[in-house]
Amino acid sequence: MSSSKSTDVLASETHFYRLYEEAPLPFLLLDGEGRLIKVNQACEHVFGYRREEVLGRYLGDFLLQGFEDTLPHAVHEFASSGPISGIEFEVRCKDGTSKLVSMSGHIVRDDQGQYLYTYCILIDITDRKGIEKALQDSDEKYRLAMEASQDGLWDWEVNTGSVYYSPRWNSILGEKETQNNYSTWEDRIHPEDKPRVLKTLHSHLAGETTAWREEHRLKNADGEWIWVLGRGRVVKRDQRGKPLRMVGTMSDINDHKQAEKALHNSEERLKALINATSDDVVVLLDSSFRMEIVNERAAQRFCKTVEQLKGCSLGELMSPERAKERLEYAHKVINSGKSVRFEDYRAGRWYDNNMSPVLNDEGKPQAVAIFARDITERKRMERALADAKDAAERASATKTRFLAAASHDLRQPLQAISSYKDILTLNNTSPELAGPIKQLGDAVLAMQELLECLLDVNKLNAAALKPYMRSFYLGHLLSQLKDQYQTTAMEKGLVLKFVPCNAVVHSDPTLLRVILQNLISNAIKYTQQGKVVIGCRRLGGQLRIEIRDTGIGIPEEEQESVFEEFYQLDNPARDRSKGLGIGLAIVKRMAELLKHTLSMHSVPGKGSCFAIRVPLDYRTQKETHVVNPVALKTDDVSTGSSILLVEDDEIVLHASYGLLQALGYTVKAASSAEAALRLILSETPAPDIIVTDYRLPGDCDGAELIQQLRAKTGSPIPAIVLTGDTTIADTSNYLPDNSLLLEKPARVEELVLAINQLLGNPGPAAE
Ligand code: ADP
Repeated sequence: MSSSKSTDVLASETHFYRLYEEAPLPFLLLDGEGRLIKVNQACEHVFGYRREEVLGRYLGDFLLQGFEDTLPHAVHEFASSGPISGIEFEVRCKDGTSKLVSMSGHIVRDDQGQYLYTYCILIDITDRKGIEKALQDSDEKYRLAMEASQDGLWDWEVNTGSVYYSPRWNSILGEKETQNNYSTWEDRIHPEDKPRVLKTLHSHLAGETTAWREEHRLKNADGEWIWVLGRGRVVKRDQRGKPLRMVGTMSDINDHKQAEKALHNSEERLKALINATSDDVVVLLDSSFRMEIVNERAAQRFCKTVEQLKGCSLGELMSPERAKERLEYAHKVINSGKSVRFEDYRAGRWYDNNMSPVLNDEGKPQAVAIFARDITERKRMERALADAKDAAERASATKTRFLAAASHDLRQPLQAISSYKDILTLNNTSPELAGPIKQLGDAVLAMQELLECLLDVNKLNAAALKPYMRSFYLGHLLSQLKDQYQTTAMEKGLVLKFVPCNAVVHSDPTLLRVILQNLISNAIKYTQQGKVVIGCRRLGGQLRIEIRDTGIGIPEEEQESVFEEFYQLDNPARDRSKGLGIGLAIVKRMAELLKHTLSMHSVPGKGSCFAIRVPLDYRTQKETHVVNPVALKTDDVSTGSSILLVEDDEIVLHASYGLLQALGYTVKAASSAEAALRLILSETPAPDIIVTDYRLPGDCDGAELIQQLRAKTGSPIPAIVLTGDTTIADTSNYLPDNSLLLEKPARVEELVLAINQLLGNPGPAAE
C-alpha cells in the first residue's frame, strides 16, 4: 500500500471495507502489480482459500492456464480507462475445481492522481456459461438436424422486413444467394397460390392460428414452378401482440407433388375408363369389403350417387342373403388370390360377374375388383337360339319319323306294283302288251331307285344307318350289278364290262352295293358313247374297286362340289330323266361310314374314274348271311315247295301271294302272327319255308314269329324276313339262324334266290 495515502482516504477505505466484508459477492483489492491486498469472506467461501493463503500473492497464480495473460492485460486497461467490466477468467479453487468468473471494478487514485489500488467484484458465471453452452450446442444440433432434413430455414424480422434465408433455402430454388428481404419469397409465389398463402400467413401473424403451414408453388432460378411446403411460427411479439420475429422452414415437395399429380392423373384416367364402360358395373372393394371406387353404372344400379356409394358395405346395398353370398366370394378371392366368376339375375336383368384380386406392393391380395356385365341381351339370344335349336331338332326328328313312316308305307304299294308287274310278265302271252309291261317295269325300277336314294339320305341324316361289316365274295355282288345294269348300258349302245374278281372283302354288302350302284348308274348316265368298265385292283391289304367311263367328265372346279347334296352340273349333255343330285353325296357319306377311301379322277370330254378302297379279308373264304346274287331264271325255282306267307298289308299280301303262286310255289297266307300260328297248327306237314314281314301288328315281330312257329312245329323251318324298316342293319343282328333278311320292295329274283339258298338249291353256279 502506498505511503502517500491521506488519512481521509484511509478512513473512507476502512468504511468501504467493512461494507464489502459482509457482501455476498467475492470482493478483492489488488495493488498496482496485481497482488492481492484484501479479500472478503465471500471470496474465502467461493474459492475455498483462507485469507492468509492468498494475501500478498499475485492473482494470476490462482488462474487456470490460458488466462494468465488476461489479468496483466486487464490491469493495463484499467490503468488507462478506470472502470473495469466483464473481464472473464477461470479461477482454480482450493478443492481442485475451477470457477468461471466475471470481474468488474474500478481503479482508485489519490488526490494527486496517483494510483492507489484496484477494487474488484467477482461474479461466479460458471452456471450461466454452462447454460449458454448448452444453448449453443442445442442450436448447433438444431442446425444440423435442419440440414439433415433437407429443409431450408428462414428467420424473418417482421417489422423491418429483413429475412435470413439459409443456404439450403436458396438451393431449393436453385439460387446461390438471394436478397435478405421478405419480397424475395413473396414475389416468387405462383399467382394462383398467392391469395390463399398470404391469407393464412396474415391470419397467423394476427394471432388467429398457432402456426402457419401452406403448400405452394415458387418460381425457381430457371423460371420453373416448383412445389414447396412452408411452415412457420411467430416466436416474438411486442407487448401489444404485434409480431416481431417469425421463423420457419421450407421443404422441397416437388417430386412428391409430381408423383401425387401423376397418381391423381392416373386415378382420373382410371375413373374415366371405368365410367366409359357404360354397360358394366365396376366396383373396387377395399380390404374391409367396402366400396372404394365405383362407376356411374354402379351408382345407377343401386339408385345412389357415386359419392353416396363410397364406403358402403354390401349389406347396405343388397339383401342379406345376396350380400352374404358376395362376401363369401370376396373372401375366396382374397384367400386364394384367384378370380371368381358367376352369373346372377336381379331386377329382371342377368349379370356376368367377375371378381378379381387387387394385389398390394408385396403381391398379396388386398382388395377385390368387381366387373359385372349386363348379359340380359346375350341371355335372351342364347335362349332364343336354344329354342330355335330345339324347334329345329324337333322338326328334324319329326321329319325323320315322317320319312321312316313314309318309307315303310311307300314300300308297301311299290312292292305290290312290282309283284303285279312280275305276274303280268310271267303270264303275258300277248306281244302288244310286252312293251307297256316292260315300260311299267322300268318306271317301277326308277321309282324304286329314287325311293332308295331318299331313304338312304334319311337314314344317313338320322344317323340310323349302322354298318353291318362282314366278309363276302365281291364277285357275287359285282355279277348282280352287272345283271342290273347290263340292259340299260346296252340300250344306250355302251359296253358295260365287269373284270372278273374273286376277292373276299370286308364291308357291309348292302351299303357297298348302294355305293357301287350309284357310281355305275352315274357312269352310264353321263356317258354317251364308249364304255363303262368296273375293275378291281389289289393294293396291299385293300381292294381298289374302279368304275371308269368314257363320258362327259367333270370340270376340275366342280370335282369337289359334285359330292354335295342336291348338286348337279348344268351340263346340257347329261341325262335329266333320273337323278336328284344326291347320288354322290350318299356315296361319300356311306364311304365315310364304312371308312372306305373314295377317290375320283375326271377329265372333261374324256371320262371319269371313281374308285373306292375296301379292306380285303384273307382269313375267311366263307361268306356269311349274304344272298347269292345270281340272275334269276324261272326254271331255277324249286317248284312245289310250300311257303307260309305272313303279311299284314292286304295289297302286298295279295300281290306276293299271286307272285309266289305264279312262280310255282304252294302258298299259304296269313295276315297276322296269330293267324300264322293258327294256320301252322292246322296244316300238316309244316311249310318248307316261311316268308314273313318284319313289322307285324301286335307285340310279335317277324323274327319272333319265326321262333314261335319253329317251336310249335318242332322243326327249324328256314325263313325269309322282309322289311321296310330303315333300321335294317340292327334288325339283321336279331335274326334267327337259318333265315335271311330282304329289304322291301324285294325283287322277284332276290326272293327266288333267297328261297333257293335256304332250301339248299344253290341255283346256277356263281362266277
Ligand atoms: P345326279 O342325280 O345328278 O346324278 P349325283 O350326286 O350322283 O347326282 O351327281 C352329281 C353330279 O355329278 C351330276 O349331276 C353330274 O353332273 C356329275 N357326275 C356324277 N358322276 C358323273 C360321271 N361319271 N361323269 C360325269 N359327271 C358325273
